[in-house]
Amino acid sequence: MAQSSSGRKKPNVLVTGTPGTGKTTTSSFLAEATQLRHVNVGDLVKDKNLHDGWDEQLDCHVINEDLVCDELEDMMEEGGNIVDYHGCDFFPERWFDRVVVLQTENSVLYDRLSKRGYTGAKLTNNIECEIFQVLLEEAKESYPEGIVVALRSDTIDDINRNVATLTDWVRNWCPKPE
Ligand code: ADP
Ligand code: MN
Repeated sequence: MAQSSSGRKKPNVLVTGTPGTGKTTTSSFLAEATQLRHVNVGDLVKDKNLHDGWDEQLDCHVINEDLVCDELEDMMEEGGNIVDYHGCDFFPERWFDRVVVLQTENSVLYDRLSKRGYTGAKLTNNIECEIFQVLLEEAKESYPEGIVVALRSDTIDDINRNVATLTDWVRNWCPKPE
């Protein structure tokens, strides 16, 4: 039977934040604990060619937001997804029950991104993105205030606590009456 988007039986969670804040690590632990599906949007874009080529300046794919949303629509309507991406303003607002913004202390993030091989403009752009809380602002502008939560992600203890908190939230989530 077709189900309306508000009638999904399992919640959709968006995990966003600057690259390196721990989205993929947190999402995969959370998926394991809750049996929700981890959707790594960056990987999906690569695997299914949902982009308009490579941006030499920014050293990343130019994501095609319409193609990504079309690809995800059915899955999101069904519910039970953890969507992992460093952007959030182009997803339909109705998709998500919870929007998590991970945040990391600048010097910690600097070390993580350096280790990942980021240098020059790519490194400083991402550090500035974190300093100016770009993803938190984007999330607050794109989703109802009550569903957006900022979580610190500096240490492994933070990850464990965040996964535990979010697992509780998923288990206590109730479908909205149709
Ligand atoms: P993202 O998906 O946001 O880019 P990742 O989950 O890939 O971030 O994490 C980037 C790197 O930083 C990985 O090596 C990961 O193990 C490490 N990391 C992420 N979050 C934390 C944390 N809270 N504490 C310690 N290490 C972390
Ligand atoms: Mn990632």
